[in-house]
Amino acid sequence: MFKNKVPALLIFAASHLLLFLTAFGQAPKKIKTIIVDAGHGGTRDPGATGQYENSLRSKEKDITLAIALKLVAELKKQFPDINVVPTRTTDIYQSPPEKANIANENKGDLFLCIHADSGPLKTGKRQIGTREETRYKITYKKVKKKKVKISTPYTVTVPVYEYFKMPLTRNGTSVWIFAPHKTSDKLKAIMNEMGDFDIETNDVADSTLKPFDINTPEGKTLANIYAKRYQERSDKLATLVNDEVTKTGREALGVNQRQVGIWVLQATNMPAILVETGFINNPEDERYLNSPEGQQELAVAITKAVKVYRDQVEHIAPGVNSNAVVKDDTPTPVAISSRPVKDTKSIQVKNNKLKIDILDDAEIDNDIVSVYFNKALVVDRKALTAKAYSFTVDLVENKVNEIILYADNLGSIAPNTALMVITDGTTRHEIKLSADFKNNASVKFELKK
Ligand SMILES: [Zn+2]
Repeated sequence: MFKNKVPALLIFAASHLLLFLTAFGQAPKKIKTIIVDAGHGGTRDPGATGQYENSLRSKEKDITLAIALKLVAELKKQFPDINVVPTRTTDIYQSPPEKANIANENKGDLFLCIHADSGPLKTGKRQIGTREETRYKITYKKVKKKKVKISTPYTVTVPVYEYFKMPLTRNGTSVWIFAPHKTSDKLKAIMNEMGDFDIETNDVADSTLKPFDINTPEGKTLANIYAKRYQERSDKLATLVNDEVTKTGREALGVNQRQVGIWVLQATNMPAILVETGFINNPEDERYLNSPEGQQELAVAITKAVKVYRDQVEHIAPGVNSNAVVKDDTPTPVAISSRPVKDTKSIQVKNNKLKIDILDDAEIDNDIVSVYFNKALVVDRKALTAKAYSFTVDLVENKVNEIILYADNLGSIAPNTALMVITDGTTRHEIKLSADFKNNASVKFELKK
């Protein structure tokens, strides 16, 4: 049944993708184009507005444009080889499908969506003075057996209040990705059929994939495929942006997933994130978002995250059980060049193929680590548990082979410690490694047959 329902264009695209895979093999994906979207725009869609008392009354569309323009400039500066495409550079209205089509038509490899958050405001009340009010005391008197009412005036002082919109107390930056509902079997089948989407899509496949209407069943299916395909990478980039925001000292609210309501993220054929840069109805955040310094700080933080992301994606090894053989001219990923190796161990081994198990050797405190083998990422952000995580590496002869442990967090007990069990034929080596935010740890292998 899924055969009848698969849109013809999908099968067409899939066949081209497969052809492409056969022809070019699994070359690492290079990031060539980044799309930067300034959320909202024009008089029709101003987005959120600063509405609390003494607010700057700023509009989200202006903030997103200012940050997006700075982000475009910073990305161009840091990556002269990457094509950076803004969806808009002026105050114009664009519908979400228009934004998505700009991204897809320009064959973006990343979609960065800039927004500002808001929240419902409470109404406050305060006394601004007093006024005199005349009231009457009522008494009754009997006059000729009749009850007579007597009003006696007196003056009271009453408070005068004014009402105002209270500012939002919440503040900070959050990152959002689109997470589709659990994948249907049909979708899984289509995805398997299509092969690895992460491999470069060629022009032929691309031109058949867009534009599309998400309101049609075919469009929905396609959007779900995009989202599912890129969920892992979107999540990786989102996590890196959150990390960089944390480093600025700003409140970082983490990576969040939404099933609905992030249309553009769903309709873009590339990893996509949405950054809610701050709360427009929080006084501190509103001033930060409107300041050139704040805008620049966010642009730099996002650019740094893209740098680490690019580094990881472009030098990614095929993964577990991989031949992570790299030439010596391979550039060193930022993740491992930014921190010196402090804890180095050297061991002699007899076999080219080694099985490596990593686990948390001390208290399980949610340490997250990445592992590089000869500069190639072989373990990407894995939480260490008491249960070993296994992978194999193939040593290159006549050179020093090195495994580097990179701490992605410090767990709840610093530093980040891992037990590495290296199986060399029948010999087992147990090595304790310790890494933190300042230093990496490494194991060097000397191959002696
Ligand atoms: Zn928005």
